[in-house]
Amino acid sequence: MTIQDGLWFDPAKLFIGGGWRAGGGGETIPVENPSTGEVIAAIARGTAEDVDAAVAAAQAALDGAWGAMTATERGRILMRLAGLVIERAETLAQLESADVGKPLVQARNDAIALARYFEFYGGSADKITGETIPYQSGSTVLTLREPHGVTAHVIPWNYPMQILGRSVGAALAMGNACVLKPAEDASLSALAVAALAVEAGLPAGALNIVTGYGHDVGAALSGHACVHHVSFTGSVGTGRRIQIAAAENVVPVTLELGGKSPHIVFDDVDLEAALPTLVGACMQAAGQTCSAASRVLVQRGIYDEVKRRMAEVYNGLKVGPASGNHDLGPLVSARQKAIVSRYIARGREDLTVAGEGTILPDAPEAGHYVAPVLFADVPPEHPLAQEEIFGPVQVLIPFDDEADAIRIANGTDYGLVAGVWTENGARQMRLARKLDVGQVFVNNYGAGGGVELPFGGVGKSGHGREKGFEALYGFSRLKTISIRHG
Ligand code: NAD
Repeated sequence: MTIQDGLWFDPAKLFIGGGWRAGGGGETIPVENPSTGEVIAAIARGTAEDVDAAVAAAQAALDGAWGAMTATERGRILMRLAGLVIERAETLAQLESADVGKPLVQARNDAIALARYFEFYGGSADKITGETIPYQSGSTVLTLREPHGVTAHVIPWNYPMQILGRSVGAALAMGNACVLKPAEDASLSALAVAALAVEAGLPAGALNIVTGYGHDVGAALSGHACVHHVSFTGSVGTGRRIQIAAAENVVPVTLELGGKSPHIVFDDVDLEAALPTLVGACMQAAGQTCSAASRVLVQRGIYDEVKRRMAEVYNGLKVGPASGNHDLGPLVSARQKAIVSRYIARGREDLTVAGEGTILPDAPEAGHYVAPVLFADVPPEHPLAQEEIFGPVQVLIPFDDEADAIRIANGTDYGLVAGVWTENGARQMRLARKLDVGQVFVNNYGAGGGVELPFGGVGKSGHGREKGFEALYGFSRLKTISIRHG
């Protein structure tokens, strides 16, 4: 069975300069449904020559109709695109769910979040202003925010729609022209959005999509001499390669990488309110979330109770096909299942299993299902408490006091998000200040938070910020103009 019927685009084509074309090499990459193992479509395997064509088309857009538009006109196009995404949200969600194995209800949220990004950045396009700066007598100094020019966007497979929205939405709002390389495991929604962008009136070349593998299309794009900014979301290893490639051309890079984010639960927590989030903040997208709260640090006085209550939740978690809207769908690929399974096997050797979910009998054999596991009493230095697993695995770690909690929380290479659970206001503030992360949630957890909230990491979680207004500064460069008028 293929998903071709009812689609408004051809998944096997690249989108370059406002038109659709086959990849230069003529090869395609099969698209697998992770719930069933079936091949449901094929995408084009782009080449370095396709990247050249896309970058040239983006530059032509900047030199032509797109570059000539006012910020208000750009904003209107993004708002129209948001409307089209909302109209087609159900189809987009079904497509994403079939492509990456996400339960339909979660894919629907992603489609609405995509629309929100285009709305938010559409509305903000004409609200970014420069400054005037007091300077010498007889001078006026002002600053202008200008687009970088051609921006490259390399994104992963876990939240394809949301990451496209936050990255491309902000870049377009600032007047850049974008070349996007979606993940080879998750390209369908990006192509669907490109087709909607045409309907919304986006000028040719302002957005280009080149599908294909990271080592050829991604590498060619991030090292392209005519790209002026690179935005990357993905693993630390690839991020490092992208930064090196961009350094050759001395262009700025935003890196949104991995995480090992902690929930820090003090003994005055409202456990009833916290419990669903303690588990849910890791289980969404079957744990394949950069900001998954994969470590749960619990103060010793309530540790046994939290362990028991979380184990109960785990024992009730059900895993099954994405269309069934179970707690968890499959992982994205056989490769990801193998990586996560190795971690779980390692945990079973060294650690205590406190709770474990169930794979439902209707989950097809060929799907990439992994039952979620909660490990207890995990030493903070254990690999399962240090390394990003990117699957449905959480570790419970006891702590004694505030200083102990901060030391353990800050004791990994990562620093993306942290959740702090306490009713003590002064402690909330102290923790928020002392945690080495990009976002802190107090008595809630937003796995990256809303569209409006700047997001990004410290340490190996990356640098630069996307989302919120902050992204608009990242996708622009500042020019200072000093006028001597006497
Ligand atoms: P990945 O690094 O393997 O791939 C990400 C993208 O990079 C894909 O499009 C891939 O094709 C491309 N790529 C691969 N090799 C490349 C190369 N040599 N040059 C250029 N591009 C290349 O990551 P993944 O496995 O797809 O995603 C999982 C990782 O992404 C996890 O570590 C996760 O934490 C991270 N992630 C981070 C965020 C965030 O916002 N911080 C969000 C989602 C995922």
